[in-house]
Amino acid sequence: EQMESVEILIIGAGPAGSVAAALLRQQGREVLVLEREQFPRFSIGESLLPQSMEYLEQAGMLRAVVEAGFQFKNGAAFVRNGQYTDFDFRDKHTIGWGTTYQVQRGTFDHILAKEAERFGAQIRYRHEVTMIDLVQEKPVVTVKDPDGKITQIEAGFILDASGFGRILPRLLKLESPSNFPVRGAIFTHIEDRISGEFDRNKIRVTVHPKHCDVWFWTIPFAAGRCSLGVVAETSFLDRYQGTEVERLQAIISEDESLKTLLENAVWDTPARHIVGYSANVASLSGKGYALLGNAGEFLDPVFSSGVTIAFKSASLAAALLQRQFAGEEVDWQAEYGIPLKKGVDTFRAFVESWYAGGFQQIIFHEEHQPEIRRMIASILAGYAWDLTNPMVKETARRLAALEALCTSE
Ligand code: FAD
Repeated sequence: EQMESVEILIIGAGPAGSVAAALLRQQGREVLVLEREQFPRFSIGESLLPQSMEYLEQAGMLRAVVEAGFQFKNGAAFVRNGQYTDFDFRDKHTIGWGTTYQVQRGTFDHILAKEAERFGAQIRYRHEVTMIDLVQEKPVVTVKDPDGKITQIEAGFILDASGFGRILPRLLKLESPSNFPVRGAIFTHIEDRISGEFDRNKIRVTVHPKHCDVWFWTIPFAAGRCSLGVVAETSFLDRYQGTEVERLQAIISEDESLKTLLENAVWDTPARHIVGYSANVASLSGKGYALLGNAGEFLDPVFSSGVTIAFKSASLAAALLQRQFAGEEVDWQAEYGIPLKKGVDTFRAFVESWYAGGFQQIIFHEEHQPEIRRMIASILAGYAWDLTNPMVKETARRLAALEALCTSE
């Protein structure tokens, strides 16, 4: 029997995989996506950034997302020990989308996958990639179908969009340790019944009153529901006993503002716990493959950058494949790895500053010039690749200077 052969094989139908599939179909490529789960399936990562809208638009998926009726989002709010500050993404340095959505990822990812199919990508659900052979002339993947049957497929190029599955990095031993301490998250969905002053159009990040490296997210959805979670080092989370919901409730009760905000909430969904999600790789590409989204690198959830980075990676890779299939020589390291990492490194500097406390000093400081706030708003809106923003161009230096300014009084 002859081995099945495709032009482009994508592993995983999450945001990175579906957007890449749609873009490649629009170039006329033959695209096969192998997805381990049946959709819709739960996924974490529910607060989008406005920068992501540009890629949904590019992929031809924007209307389907808009029409789904997700919760509108125009900014981010931060709360710490009675202090409140917020950023409206429409008032930002970078030109581009200033609003977006907060989405239940089961529904959202399913919409994107269906859109990719609408453009002619073939998606096989409940097909798990178990092995990849890169030694042959063309890469060959081993696939397990829903009946447990094993087959092999040869591909012209492989995009690994397997997210936290990280199939290629694991098989190729490309994983390199993340330099962040091991953190975990406990999270759930609630019927929030919030009645007081609360801006449903913004994600709310609450800093723990005693530990500046522990924080909570409240991400409002449409129809009175909310995603709620806490992020902390595992040694902190380990101190709390009981079910995941009880542990989450116990940590929340340590913050007056959050406890009061959620006093009427209906806890109707079991909570989940995920640890050690930060990951890094030695290289984002190699002969016959590239890593997209979380399969490459994942920093930290605090700035909701994950889906935006996943889309950006899909967009960059699709543009390079267009040139490669047209016969051009492409230097993936120079034209994919390095440009993608530019934005990732911007976020990394902000994440580091967040946990060290510096960025919190900056945002809760009241007397910034409006242009400084607009530069910060751009990053918070996901425009981490815009070199016209000094906070992108010289991130570390600018953050250090601002922090010094805010703590000197
Ligand atoms: P995924 O969405 O993980 O999709 C990968 C797909 O590949 C899955 O469907 C999986 O089933 C499939 N797969 C895996 N292995 C295989 C295999 N061997 N064969 C076939 N298929 C396979 N991001 C945000 O933008 N906003 C947020 O608010 C946010 N909050 C977060 C909170 C937490 C606690 C964490 C941990 C992350 C958060 N993120 C957030 C990040 C976000 O979850 C990810 O960055 C995003 O889902 C990455 O998309 P992806 O397409 O790369 O991978």
